[in-house]
Amino acid sequence: MRLLPLLSNRPAHHPIRTTLAWAGLALSAALLAGCASAPTPSAGPVSLRLIAFNDFHGNLESANLSLPWPDPADKTKTVRLATGGAAPLASLVQALRAGSAHSLVISSGDMIGATPLVSALFRHESTVEAMNLLGVDIAIPGNHEFDAGRTEYLRILNGGCGLNAADDPVVSCALGPYRGARFASFVANVETADGKTLLPASIVREVGGVKVGFIGAVTRTTPSIVVPSGVAGLKFTDEAEAINREAARLKALGVQALVAVIHEGGDTGLPGEPEEWNDAACPSPRGPIFDIAKRMSADVDVIFSAHTHQGYRCVGADARPIMQATALGRGVSVVDLVINRQTGEVDRQATRHRNLPVMNERTEPALRAHVLATEPAPWAEVLKAAAAPATANAQAVAARVAEYAAAAAPRVQRPVGKIQAAFTRAGRADNSAGRLIADAQFEATRTPERGGAQFSLMNPGGVRSDLPCRGTPPCTVTYGDVFTMQPFGNSLVVLTLNGAQLRQMLEDQQRPGRSSPTLLIPSAGLSYRWLASAPHGQRVQDLQLNGQPITPTQELRFTVNSFLADGGDGFTMLVQGRNRLGGAQDLDALVSYLQTPRAPATQARITLVE
Ligand SMILES: [Zn+2]
Repeated sequence: MRLLPLLSNRPAHHPIRTTLAWAGLALSAALLAGCASAPTPSAGPVSLRLIAFNDFHGNLESANLSLPWPDPADKTKTVRLATGGAAPLASLVQALRAGSAHSLVISSGDMIGATPLVSALFRHESTVEAMNLLGVDIAIPGNHEFDAGRTEYLRILNGGCGLNAADDPVVSCALGPYRGARFASFVANVETADGKTLLPASIVREVGGVKVGFIGAVTRTTPSIVVPSGVAGLKFTDEAEAINREAARLKALGVQALVAVIHEGGDTGLPGEPEEWNDAACPSPRGPIFDIAKRMSADVDVIFSAHTHQGYRCVGADARPIMQATALGRGVSVVDLVINRQTGEVDRQATRHRNLPVMNERTEPALRAHVLATEPAPWAEVLKAAAAPATANAQAVAARVAEYAAAAAPRVQRPVGKIQAAFTRAGRADNSAGRLIADAQFEATRTPERGGAQFSLMNPGGVRSDLPCRGTPPCTVTYGDVFTMQPFGNSLVVLTLNGAQLRQMLEDQQRPGRSSPTLLIPSAGLSYRWLASAPHGQRVQDLQLNGQPITPTQELRFTVNSFLADGGDGFTMLVQGRNRLGGAQDLDALVSYLQTPRAPATQARITLVE
């Protein structure tokens, strides 16, 4: 049982590990020698290293993940630094742990959901097991933890097998009993019908005799981006208010050192500039996390953020860091707290922090050497140690991931539906692959209880592959086929705009200064002509829904994926969409649509006029 008894000091799970409990003692000693935080039993401040990562999204294998990095040859350009993978992340975590007397590993939400096959096929049990082996201590939910609903989320935390349907390639307990998360989860702003929090609002750990409180929150917009049944009976309240309330409660209990862990984020970079995720000056902070931070109690000493997949380290006049480590296991945010042993207060001026890349076996040696040469002490030493032969727990992580990858292979071949011919991405405006997805998303959301959509729009960049027809039609489509086509794990969002707003949004498919448009692919029923040579604002003509002209004041309900609904691909008009209702996962909508054998829609819905 992992949910109820974990407020404050749970004796069964002592998270503060001693540093030298791993192989390579000489290396650890060397790290400690170069580090101010060697154990001092009674006097002096307490050092606590916080190691946080966010939006891991089940990226157990490094695949082709990378981070943009300043080009060593030309600082105005970026190169790709190969990063990611659960085992390299485990190695970096171990190297960081070896460098501090006390440490805690924190997941800031979206650990699961919107994942590659090796996680999705196993209901993310593979990811949680890898995170257990890696040594995650505490975690908050992100919006994606609610994708499959609250009951499934609690099962993922508590363990036990889900029901397996005979024809479903997605299975629970594929490699034996699933025992749940060994880390403790907490969140202050998710309430059940009785007004209590779904999970403990906070966790208090005693470290070297001082108490440190961790308060969790998840974006209050969660109900607008996940399926209603996933959040039924749950209330997502204001993040800052919930954190402040819990901070006051903990203060009253004598907890002075406070850390907020929030699955909400922002952006800081200047458009067009290379990523500078350690620029403490934080040139252009914007987005919800900075508004939340302004309203957050000054008693909170550190803010770990998430959700927007950006990398930043913003430190204001209050010397309180606001950090995010990009996403997908490519980076970690490290904060070395210095805590007064007598008062329990954090010395913010003495606290240091850094975002670090999770380099892996694919990292180009010359670029790795450049990173090691340019990272300041003690971080270069940590990165060097992380690249040493794998530690026992990194090896255990790698072995478990490999077992799941092997178990995934045959499941990828599992049939999920039939098609009459191949659906392809060929075509200058809309294409048959995109039309299939748009039609599937419309079908999944057209009934009133699912949002009452009148049509849907799909971003072409989200159609990642053709859907091949192998052999004689009707051809069998496999889970691997549809997953390759729709790998992002977006959910569907039904929203309302009026006719004028829709027209403006379609005009903005080619903003001034752009040489070509990004045309969203409509479901059957929505049609228009695109006058390529006309100026911005006059390109969309004959806009119709089911043969009827769309008027400026007409209210239109339609479906997009959560990526677009959040303003992705520059479609900021969609952020204004009203009466938003979260829907099913995009992949589930496609699979259910393919239960009926489908033929490619050959008629274009957008007529291109040169
Ligand atoms: Zn998120």
